[in-house]
Amino acid sequence: MNFLLPLTGSFAQPAAENPTVAMIEAAFRHHGLDWRYINVEVAPDDLADAVRGARAMGWRGFNCSIPHKVAVIDHLDGLGKSAAIIGAVNTIVRDGDRLIGENTDGRGFVAALKSVVDPADKSVVLFGAGGAARAVAVEMALAGAARITVANRSAGRGQAVVDLLNDRTDVHASYAPWEGTFSVPSGSDIVIHATSVGLYPDVNAMPDIDTDSLTQDMVVADGIHNPPLTRLLQAAKDRGCKTVDGLGMLVQQGVIGVKYWTGVDVDSQVMRQALLNLEL
Ligand code: NDP
Repeated sequence: MNFLLPLTGSFAQPAAENPTVAMIEAAFRHHGLDWRYINVEVAPDDLADAVRGARAMGWRGFNCSIPHKVAVIDHLDGLGKSAAIIGAVNTIVRDGDRLIGENTDGRGFVAALKSVVDPADKSVVLFGAGGAARAVAVEMALAGAARITVANRSAGRGQAVVDLLNDRTDVHASYAPWEGTFSVPSGSDIVIHATSVGLYPDVNAMPDIDTDSLTQDMVVADGIHNPPLTRLLQAAKDRGCKTVDGLGMLVQQGVIGVKYWTGVDVDSQVMRQALLNLEL
């Protein structure tokens, strides 16, 4: 979990090279914000105490990652709209005495995507149905996508995301089995890869997608931020597609989180450069 605190406490923690810490602290420095963002490991059994501690110390908020994204909800006072649909939280914001859970995974993705294409009325193919894919799918639907086809290895998880979309949003969602090489249907506008295939250290792994089916009118986005240029994105560029990398998603989540906590719009380029300096 990453906690965000005004300067009211002092901590002795080994400093880890955490990408989120690096990019958010870089934004604080760049904008002269006298805030700190630190990384703290919290075991599942200690989650309730950690959240109570954050309340007691007046921390302005925190991020939480796996395995806390669902369990933390029991310790909060309310949820934002998309977090309630997704059923998971990665950003907690203090509002007076209340702790509100938000989910910025998908919102960061959509913000990054919008620098290239507006999802409204678009036809989308989404690979994956895990936590990241679920968040991305919900935010794409809330951003007005017309159709989302979810392709996933396990049918059960894929269908669960499709059911969630059809039940809770206006998008038309359907499941497509992903067995063997998947050809992206012509007429698709946006192709999103949100599985963990190709994530460091397995950087040579390639999702089983027929890259010949990618056409230059498609935008191809990858959720993987390490490496920023995945094999899939390189193949998409070679096919003439516009691309959006996973660093954009990570950076925009940070921008949204800092805005929630401090009210300040921070420079995304400063944050992106901080990540690149880590040589991801
Ligand atoms: P989950 O474990 O929840 O889901 C993993 C997904 O990958 C499932 O859909 C799973 O399919 C699929 N998958 C795993 N291995 C394979 C394989 N060999 N072939 C096909 N499908 C496979 O992970 P998350 O959703 O939390 O994370 C997914 C990725 O998104 C990670 O790489 C993570 O780094 C990235 N991410 C990036 C963020 C960013 O800011 N850039 C933010 C959050 C996540 P199945 O259901 O069949 O098991």
